[in-house]
Amino acid sequence: MIFSNVTQAPADPILGLTDAFKADTRPTKVNLGVGIYKDEAGQTPVLSSVKKAEAKLIEIEKSKSYLGIDGVQAYNQAVQALLFGDASPIIADKRARTAQAPGGTGSLRMAAEFLVNNTSADTIWVSNPTWANHQSIFSAAGLNIETYDYYVAEQHDIDFDAMLASLANAKAGDIVLLHGCCHNPTGIDLTIDQWRQIGELCVKQQLVPLFDFAYQGFGAGIEEDAQGLRTVAAQVSELIVANSFSKNFGLYNERIGAVTLVAVNSEEAERAFSQVKKTIRSSYSNPPAHGGLIVSTILADAELRAEWEQELAQMRSRIAQMRELFVATLAAEGVTQDFSFIAKQNGMFSFSGLSKEQVARLKDEFGVYIVGSGRISVAGLTKANLPVVCKAIAQV
Ligand code: PLP
Repeated sequence: MIFSNVTQAPADPILGLTDAFKADTRPTKVNLGVGIYKDEAGQTPVLSSVKKAEAKLIEIEKSKSYLGIDGVQAYNQAVQALLFGDASPIIADKRARTAQAPGGTGSLRMAAEFLVNNTSADTIWVSNPTWANHQSIFSAAGLNIETYDYYVAEQHDIDFDAMLASLANAKAGDIVLLHGCCHNPTGIDLTIDQWRQIGELCVKQQLVPLFDFAYQGFGAGIEEDAQGLRTVAAQVSELIVANSFSKNFGLYNERIGAVTLVAVNSEEAERAFSQVKKTIRSSYSNPPAHGGLIVSTILADAELRAEWEQELAQMRSRIAQMRELFVATLAAEGVTQDFSFIAKQNGMFSFSGLSKEQVARLKDEFGVYIVGSGRISVAGLTKANLPVVCKAIAQV
């Protein structure tokens, strides 16, 4: 008997909340925990561009044979163009290699496994705070985790000098995890000038940036949101990107993302990439095809791409509208505390500043579910549930 001594694992802080939400029988319950986009009707529908791409795929698909270890080639090319821009010298100089991988999570894990097993990197620096799964992914792969200062709760803003000061302690060869845009959970991103300084610091201290890019298009726009990544990529000789299409294509359960390596030249990129492929081979052999085929079909077809861009813009503007309405409704409910900072944050989340006790009361007394850190998924707010949420916040 070997299972009888296994200890119970704690529930995942975010997905565990969804389980508790599902079990709640109150009709007015609201789930603002997990980062899933909801439309005005509170649904997460399949994008119309995705439906059309799927219809096309059903017609032309001739085989379910295995993909290569690195997935759909057209997809990998399209990913590089989205990340670095069509005219990027990184692409022209063939310094990048991309492997389709299962979601942002799978991409981060493959990047971490590759680093641990093939390079001298042993430590990764993550922001304080960061997405909770970063710690789990990187420690599972065997990296040591250090944190750099990022957010000051009292000011609802970044302390950039403190960030630089923390990273000054990193040693040559350390990895720095950076959120490409729409920082999770704070919603506060670096300015282009700050990105430039981060690039300079990476060069000076020989640190390697690992971009987690899960929200391209949810901040200011597809191109706009890539400017931080492109600014740093133009400065450094080595870089890794783990990107996800869960949110911006609404392909959550298709598990579609990619890991991209940028090396000093094409020959080194090819050699390093051979080890990424070896890592993938021993993890899941090769990726599932459907998500990669959907994304590459949409990006290669001018009409579908235009439709996707429009659908993404709609999601972005609905979230921005909810932020404004959230701030206004809180004030209308008599909340005197200043929440105007919520309207200035980027992406799906808002770091509300609500305490653990307030979060617990929101759940227990009002059926409003948010993450213990006070992170609210603004993308889950609708005109219908806003009054419920704001009334509850006013009460606590
Ligand atoms: N990185 C960040 C910052 C995220 O917020 C998420 C999803 O919540 C991911 C990565 C993972 O995305 P995926 O669902 O594609 O694994």
